[in-house]
Amino acid sequence: MRKLQSWLESTLPCALCHAPADHRRDSILCSHCVALLPWYDSPRCPQCALPNASGALCGICLQHAPAFDHTWTAFRYAYPLDRLLHQFKYHQQLSLGHLLANRLFDRLPTLPALAQPDVMIAMPMHPNRVKERGFNHALELAKQAHHHWQVTLEMEGCTRIVDTPAQAGMDMKTRTRSLRSAFATNAQWHGKHVMVVDDVMTTGASMHAVAKVLKRAGATRVTALVLARTLKS
Ligand SMILES: [Zn+2]
Ligand SMILES: [Zn+2]
Repeated sequence: MRKLQSWLESTLPCALCHAPADHRRDSILCSHCVALLPWYDSPRCPQCALPNASGALCGICLQHAPAFDHTWTAFRYAYPLDRLLHQFKYHQQLSLGHLLANRLFDRLPTLPALAQPDVMIAMPMHPNRVKERGFNHALELAKQAHHHWQVTLEMEGCTRIVDTPAQAGMDMKTRTRSLRSAFATNAQWHGKHVMVVDDVMTTGASMHAVAKVLKRAGATRVTALVLARTLKS
């Protein structure tokens, strides 16, 4: 089945522009589109991952620290990654998600202070949304992270109990309010460093809400692992 799948992928054109894909490099994109990927290489706040010149904790995190302690990300949320993620999430192109996740993990060991989390979870999705979409995209990314680092993936670690409305366009305050008590956990996180995997961090409100629930249940440290970070324009 795996063989058949990789053979099928090797015959597919570039997922973005339909030119021949660069299969030698295990890519479902052509070399032109690979070069367009918006790598996020500039200095940033280690906690919220927003850019700043010094790479030190930013003023917002110093004053109103989010409940998560650190954010790892490889990309800016920009073209063509936004289109790729959309295809992955809404057109069920799982191989695209796996490719993007592996690109992210290829980058991560070069980051300093690579602390091993004890356990990882995916950003929980409400069961209604999972039914609608067919899968939780964050869980697909977390599975790749699990293969890469062999860190235990807790499938039922945390759940989304309130089906909050789509958050696009809401500001941080409104998002935070709508997410209050959206997540719950029955698991024991005492003394654990938990990594929470998601595709994009926009305001960080969801990550903050999940981290808060985990810390209330005993987690000592929460690291966000996101494919891309939305930067304020
Ligand atoms: Zn292309
Ligand atoms: Zn910050």
